[in-house]
Amino acid sequence: MSKQKKIKELIPQPNSRFLRVKCLKCGNTQVVFGCAAQDVECLVCGKTLLQSTGGKARILTKIIEVLS
Ligand SMILES: [Zn+2]
Repeated sequence: MSKQKKIKELIPQPNSRFLRVKCLKCGNTQVVFGCAAQDVECLVCGKTLLQSTGGKARILTKIIEVLS
């Protein structure tokens, strides 16, 4: 339970980008942040779509589109 503010979040990272991904389990598509600081789950079925690795997130599902 750390209350420390993460300075890292204030620094733009070149790999930061939004991705449109498709859940392989239920087919739901949603937009996720490619550098998520924590795991991102499918909003419909709860399957983990992105796994945080402390840096660039690991994509565990299919990328449909890179938004920026
Ligand atoms: Zn799903």
